[in-house]
Amino acid sequence: MDLSHLLDGLNDAQRQAITLPPGGALVLAGAGSGKTRVLVHRIAWLLEVEQVRPWSILAVTFTNKAAREMQQRIQHLLSRPTLGMWVGTFHGLAHRLLREHWQAAGLPQEFQILDSDDQFRLVRRVIRALDIDEDKWPPRQMQWWINGQKDEGLRPQHLDAGQDPYQKRLIQIYSEYQAACERGGLVDFAELLLRALELLRDNQAIREHLQDRFQHILVDEFQDTNAIQYAWLRLIAGKQNRLFVVGDDDQSIYGWRGARVENIQDCQRQYPDAELIRLEQNYRSTGNILNAANAVIAQNSGRLGKNLWTEGGEGEPIRIYEAYNGVDEARFVVERIQQYIEQGLARRECAILYRSNAQSRLFEEALMQMGMPYRVYGGLRFFERAEIKDGLAYLQLLSNRHNDASFERVVNLPTRGIGNRTLDAVRAHARDFNCSLWQASIELIRGGKMSPRAAGALRGLLDLIEEIAANSAELALHERAAQCIHSAGLVEHHKHSKDGKGQDRVENLEELVAAAKQFGLEHDPEQGDALFAFLSHAALEAGEGQADPHEDCVQLMTLHTAKGLEFPLVFMVGLEEGLFPHSLSIEEPGRLEEERRLCYVGMTRAMRRLFLCHAENRQLYGKETYPMPSRFLREIPRELTEEVRSRPRVSRPVFNDDFSFEQVGFQLGQRVRHAKFGEGVVLNAEGQGPRARVQVNFEGVGCKWLMADPAFLQGI
Ligand code: ATP
Ligand code: MG
Repeated sequence: MDLSHLLDGLNDAQRQAITLPPGGALVLAGAGSGKTRVLVHRIAWLLEVEQVRPWSILAVTFTNKAAREMQQRIQHLLSRPTLGMWVGTFHGLAHRLLREHWQAAGLPQEFQILDSDDQFRLVRRVIRALDIDEDKWPPRQMQWWINGQKDEGLRPQHLDAGQDPYQKRLIQIYSEYQAACERGGLVDFAELLLRALELLRDNQAIREHLQDRFQHILVDEFQDTNAIQYAWLRLIAGKQNRLFVVGDDDQSIYGWRGARVENIQDCQRQYPDAELIRLEQNYRSTGNILNAANAVIAQNSGRLGKNLWTEGGEGEPIRIYEAYNGVDEARFVVERIQQYIEQGLARRECAILYRSNAQSRLFEEALMQMGMPYRVYGGLRFFERAEIKDGLAYLQLLSNRHNDASFERVVNLPTRGIGNRTLDAVRAHARDFNCSLWQASIELIRGGKMSPRAAGALRGLLDLIEEIAANSAELALHERAAQCIHSAGLVEHHKHSKDGKGQDRVENLEELVAAAKQFGLEHDPEQGDALFAFLSHAALEAGEGQADPHEDCVQLMTLHTAKGLEFPLVFMVGLEEGLFPHSLSIEEPGRLEEERRLCYVGMTRAMRRLFLCHAENRQLYGKETYPMPSRFLREIPRELTEEVRSRPRVSRPVFNDDFSFEQVGFQLGQRVRHAKFGEGVVLNAEGQGPRARVQVNFEGVGCKWLMADPAFLQGI
């Protein structure tokens, strides 16, 4: 039998891992060293050489995309079907187990999966049915808490509130929610994992059947398994060890969601006879990229340690671009992508990676202006995100009270006690009298047919909108937007949400204000009302629709979503203190190290070219900020990098441009004071209007280009 196709082009350590006799193994290796490739070839080897039957193989990875790719790669190697093999994500496989053994799992045959939104609505319904105050017991918080209990393997009956009334309430909500799920045959995501675990733990026959069946269990990205996933794997693996796991402790980035990198060490302890194999050659990236990533991750403590090298040659230096603000950063990135595409790179080979979802907006706008197709992975495009639509709906009402869709969207968001019955009455009145919901509300309140409580709640909304409209009429567009989202309580609403996404949503709302500001600066008042124009702009952008996944398009995603992927050209953007590392993690050493691992993951996605960008000036959380460059940039040895100078403006000699000084309102050599950088001397100037900038040499800080905005920079 010719087996060369299974081992061709692989190095010795990889071959060793692939050809191990059936049994346990741990492949511990850095990024791009071929872990995923080894896993795929191992499966093919088991099938072809060890004559293992496909249905005794269980392979787990972290995303559906990775699972699909794995299937395809195995098929490609084997050129025959792999019927009966189980390849999927933890959730996908747990679901499959429960479908097969629904009776033993205590589920109806047709049980349904509750996605996160459905779950939220059910939790809310339960809280309402119990007549509990939603403001004190916010459904999102309860949802997060319930899932946390399930992730720990805890059912309501395992929890003991003692005398604590708060705990008692929590448990009551959890019990009622669970009862509602049981009645409806509903299973949420956390329940999938827990139920599958309980099924294996409590049902000896099924456990033994599965242990018998799955002789070979293979796991990719093992460093990000959580407690329940690991327990689940161990139950199927049984006493014999047949776990073939691959992972990289330096790429553990889901600690905040309960992933336990310690599972790697625990696995070594539990199965001391498992082979430990290290892969040290990186095949993905150039020498410069790899050395830079290695230098960054070397700053972390408590690593298992590894030595990663490449034969690939140094390649190009890592390019660092200091943008003057976020818009400039996006412009730079998109122009560069355009250049590389002209030189023959496909769009799908270019990736823009960012820390927070909110950062995508500026890039989306720049790409759209260029007419370049793009796709945002693992998230919605900016103007399609729910919180953005909520904010826009309030703004729509300011612009037009009779916009029924917006009225429906915000009528009870945040909760203001307008019940379904009240809303139904409003809808019926609007239908009967052919008027808007807004008008119907006014008439119903006037007519006095509603209960005082309902009328009061409804009036609360109408008054709120009128009040915001009156108070903000004279303000600039972005100030109106800011006032609107704050007064409407949207920021507050998300800030207190405990589902782990609140911060992200607040950042997105702040980004909406930044979007309004940028739009306002460019809007020509001759062309009519700025708010109206902005709303049309947002509606059009949301309506563009994502590029088709099969279309060749630029790839946008967060650093978390990029795990396991690779691209010839990578831009990591927003490398600024506060943004990345994220402000919430700077204080805590553990979380800072997780941010650094995320940086390592990002850098090691790049195959040939890596650009790292940061901005001197950024609108962050609704404020103008002057962030310091990210500490991760300083951790890269200088000789591996090259600073990119943008456009001639920066290198233009001083002194020959008196005109610029006139335009920006500062003079050459003038002493100035800046709120953050202290005192300095003006060296250069450029641009005009909102784009005017000056270069100042600050004492002890050095030269900086800054916006010539008197609010920040004053002559002394
Ligand atoms: P990550 O940690 O990012 O998940 P990984 O260790 O799983 O990375 P792979 O994605 O399997 O690495 O491999 C990285 C790249 O190197 C892929 O393009 C793969 O095809 C290639 N590669 C792996 N091993 C070899 C080899 N022996 N010869 C040539 N190319 C290889
Ligand atoms: Mg991989």
